[in-house]
Amino acid sequence: MDIRQEMEELRELIKYHNDRYYNQDDPEISDYEYDKLSQRLRTLERDYPELDSPDSPTKNIGGKAKREAGVLVRHNVPMLSLQDVFNKEEVLSFVEKILSYRRDTVFCVERKIDGLSVALRYTDGELTTGITRGDGVSYGEDVTDNIKVIKDVKHNLKDNVPYIEIRGEIYMKTEDFEEVNNKLELAGKKLFANPRNCAAGTLRQLDSSIVKERKLSLFAFNVQDTEGIRFASHSESLEWIKKQGIKVIEGYRLCRTAEEVWDAITEIGENRGELSYDIDGAVVKVDDLAFREQLGATSKVPRWAVAYKYPPEEKETIVKEIRLSVGRTGRITPTAIFEPIRLCGTNVERATLHNQDRIDELDVRIGDTIVVRKAGEIIPEVLSVIKDKRPEGTVPYEISNVCPSCGSKAVRDDNTADIKCTNINCPAQLIQHIINFVSRNAMDVKGFGEAYIDALTREGYLKNIADIYYLKDHRDELIEKGLIGKEKNTDKLLNAIEESKKNDIDRLITGFGIKNIGKQAATGLSKHFKSISELQNASYDELITINDVGDISARAIVDFFSNENNKEILERLDGAGVNFNSLQNTSLVDNRLEGLTFVITGTLPTMGRSDMEKLIKDHGGKVSGSVSKKTSFLIAGDNPGSKLTKANELGVEVLTEEEILERIRK
Ligand code: ZN
Repeated sequence: MDIRQEMEELRELIKYHNDRYYNQDDPEISDYEYDKLSQRLRTLERDYPELDSPDSPTKNIGGKAKREAGVLVRHNVPMLSLQDVFNKEEVLSFVEKILSYRRDTVFCVERKIDGLSVALRYTDGELTTGITRGDGVSYGEDVTDNIKVIKDVKHNLKDNVPYIEIRGEIYMKTEDFEEVNNKLELAGKKLFANPRNCAAGTLRQLDSSIVKERKLSLFAFNVQDTEGIRFASHSESLEWIKKQGIKVIEGYRLCRTAEEVWDAITEIGENRGELSYDIDGAVVKVDDLAFREQLGATSKVPRWAVAYKYPPEEKETIVKEIRLSVGRTGRITPTAIFEPIRLCGTNVERATLHNQDRIDELDVRIGDTIVVRKAGEIIPEVLSVIKDKRPEGTVPYEISNVCPSCGSKAVRDDNTADIKCTNINCPAQLIQHIINFVSRNAMDVKGFGEAYIDALTREGYLKNIADIYYLKDHRDELIEKGLIGKEKNTDKLLNAIEESKKNDIDRLITGFGIKNIGKQAATGLSKHFKSISELQNASYDELITINDVGDISARAIVDFFSNENNKEILERLDGAGVNFNSLQNTSLVDNRLEGLTFVITGTLPTMGRSDMEKLIKDHGGKVSGSVSKKTSFLIAGDNPGSKLTKANELGVEVLTEEEILERIRK
């Protein structure tokens, strides 16, 4: 790839991830991966200054202070982020450079808490304002009310100083985070990806009582701005903050040489798994505050500090077992079960091996010593096998050609490396299918857990998704057998099932589990079609015109609805009273175009293509993607292309935008 293209792609990618991280609190990649991307871009911009760009994400700090979220407060001192470094050499060169200016420099090495930074302003000893980082330079959001309910935040200082701004990190302890997610899961809501996102989402809550309930924590890490009090060094200011009753970053260390600094970083890294909160690195700061001022800052980062980012944590362990599981599509997935290890603060004892190809590539065998890696919230992965530690008598592992769930024959798909169970009535597949159907994205049946699905399937009450809506016919029997608990619990679930009948059809379509049709495509379909019956009768040509529906999806939809078994299931769903009508596509104005099929081509003079489509549908007409004998009219704009030729060949009448509007208005 050429450099210019790589840089452009990096910029796009970083902007996308900035948005996920800062504005949606829903990141897709780990911070470590993100930092690597930024660093690569910065390196390229340094090496190729002629390709640098003023609107590169490296030139601003990522987050936009959200104007709609709260009142913005101006930063008196910019809240800059720190220069990231990834290896020992970079740390040593930073320290050596500072030492070359001043031989007797003292460095403070501290944990970098994985949370979000805030500024606390105290006037005459009283907390007046709490501000987020926001854009880092000019403005942050006022979060005073929410900050005040955090237990670690003191409303009053012990010493009555005229003015001081204390910077701190708001974070969430692992156990508090888990409690929040447990509650969200019980309520059927979306979970937070990690403690940091949870803390960020919580701090932006409009209701302070939620903030209080979720238990955020705070460590102070800097004094930024003072009046009426002066500190000579950073460590002195930390000790002063401590005396005010505010927690400061635990276990910081003062160092005088590059080796000492590196030892302190190593020590923090080795113990990070034992902490009750996540850290994402170690910060090295110049301790002397006057010297800091002399060193100053670039437009983006201070020159007196760096943040060292730890690489993903790796550990050795022994494979006890390779377990096979069967998914909804019949795919058999191998998982390595190993002696439990602690990685990045969590206990880990399993990691997916994906498929036979990956197993062969690693040559992983039962009894092998493997290296497992995990970075922060990222899923653990098996990195390699230490062949020297292999015990005698092991054999290469091969996924058997028998389904672990039903014992039917399993075969390898020629196109993919997948091995699949061939039994369409395989209980494991059915269970996965039902789990998908009742899940949050699909029919969202509250309280329908895996254990119940498992029991009801094994007992023969659920043979397909339609059976869910006939469970109520067996109410007394179910209570007697206690499959869903006692009376109260059983009724609760049966009610939740009844409730789900009213759902819009996008949920039902998602629940069908058609290949490639996720929530997004299902939403597109439910906007396009007025009902499941209309979707059922849709042709490939029509389907392919819909957003998010490509060739594979369109074929899969046609296959799904033409399957006899599925037809019967649909009839039973319909018979049970499950809603089959789109709640998003009910805007039929009249039916003067009923029975007519239109194809639109070229650029229309005044209307967008989708507006024209909607107009036709609002009047009962259909829109298709390609011209055939069934086409009633072709609506042609500028540059109509091959569709016009085809229409002329087939003798299909061609209309202009004006002509179709006239027909509708007539
Ligand atoms: Zn099977």
